[in-house]
Amino acid sequence: MRICVVGAGYVGLVTGTCLAESGNDVVVVDIDSEKVAQLSAGEPTIYEPGLEELIKRNLTQKRLSFTTDLSAGVAHGLFIFIAVGTPSGENGCADLSAFFSVVEGIGRAMDGFRIIVDKSTVPVGTCDEVKRRLAELTEHPFDVVSNPEFLKEGTAVEDFMHPDRIIIGCDYERATAVMKELYAPFVRTENPIFVMDPRSAEMTKYAANAMLAARISFMNEIANLCEKMNADVDEVRRAIGADRRIGQAFLFPGVGYGGSCFPKDVAALEAMGVENDVPMEMTIAIRRVNQRQRDILFNKVAEHFGGELTGRTLAVWGLAFKPRTDDMREAPAVTIIERLLDAGAHVRAHDPEAVDRAREILDGRIDFRDINYDCLDGADALILVTEWDEFRHPDFEKMKSLMKTPVIFDGRNIYDRARMRQTGFTYYAMGRPAVTGGKPETRNQRSETRTASG
Ligand code: NAD
Repeated sequence: MRICVVGAGYVGLVTGTCLAESGNDVVVVDIDSEKVAQLSAGEPTIYEPGLEELIKRNLTQKRLSFTTDLSAGVAHGLFIFIAVGTPSGENGCADLSAFFSVVEGIGRAMDGFRIIVDKSTVPVGTCDEVKRRLAELTEHPFDVVSNPEFLKEGTAVEDFMHPDRIIIGCDYERATAVMKELYAPFVRTENPIFVMDPRSAEMTKYAANAMLAARISFMNEIANLCEKMNADVDEVRRAIGADRRIGQAFLFPGVGYGGSCFPKDVAALEAMGVENDVPMEMTIAIRRVNQRQRDILFNKVAEHFGGELTGRTLAVWGLAFKPRTDDMREAPAVTIIERLLDAGAHVRAHDPEAVDRAREILDGRIDFRDINYDCLDGADALILVTEWDEFRHPDFEKMKSLMKTPVIFDGRNIYDRARMRQTGFTYYAMGRPAVTGGKPETRNQRSETRTASG
């Protein structure tokens, strides 16, 4: 099938490339000419595991191309996917300016029947508005489909290729039938395709993201209470997750969620509630708890140093909002680092993939290091913000020998408390009792160490 995808970001680039990989002829349109030039040369503009190889292969096979010319994209084929950004605008409402400027460009360029597929996350009712605007701009027939995307950065290619489900929000049988055909190669393991009206499809995306964000905020609240009451949230998490009605996913407390989706989608859902006079009490709480959570790690650091961070050197491991991506949008690391800098600390940071994007925000204010251990030389403490796999089993002896004082603030609970005690670190985590290095172990701590080591 001949497909145009508008927007070559995390969603558009992955969508276009994966659709080309399943044999379609895909043109990806973006207004950013540098991005288009780089992608046309086979160089990925984002870090996403497996993506580079797919882009290169499909460019070579001439199933994938990139352009800045929207009219050429619209002329190219039957499907036009819209995957431009819909960031937070005024009062948390989704800013649809880029989205509707694309819709208008499509309307003006149409030269025959087209299926316009909305992949961007947009408020309930947007599909209807797209139909209304297109009808004013073109005489040609069209169908409009809401097809929200659920891929996760870091596993985006895998998620697109093997989705848990596909949502097709569509009022027309002809468009529904071709959409099902288009997606057939991706649901060969019988993962469901849900066909529904566009408004329900649009709401499904917001409800899914808010539900996931709710689990995170809920666990963060439990973690904070655990800490005050000397319980270990990690034990609690494992035990409640074993309940099949609950499950283990998205129960990990930490420094709060970030990224380009949860914060803006939770805010947009809240705004939809306000507009429709249905106060979204839970959504409001999810957002508030998340904002507060970012301060908690900073407060632990400040408290450890007696409220005086001036002149301290702090190492930060992990900058991206989550592992296996270079995306820095709404990354908790930025908030935490800015608070450390305001308090007079000197920050040295490492991230396996996100340093280039982090420089756009923090350049000149912190030192970036290519190797994680290089942040630790003479550091007063390490603050772990993003749980990249390569941080899970570091050489603690080497770390200790490099650091001025062996102190770790673990914002993601990736280290074992008993191990921390053995290696002599002072260790703070989220919702777990702190370990104070160098102090003799109590009888209880000794038995905990034995249990943890087998
Ligand atoms: P992004 O910012 O990475 O990419 C958007 C792209 O659109 C950019 O390359 C930008 O240059 C381009 N663009 C902007 N205006 C344009 C125009 N007028 N014409 C052509 N191109 C234009 O955004 P993203 O993260 O890919 O998100 C896109 C949409 O998908 C959003 O609505 C988002 O909520 C949703 N979504 C994102 C994810 C995710 O994990 N990132 C997951 C599911 C859904």
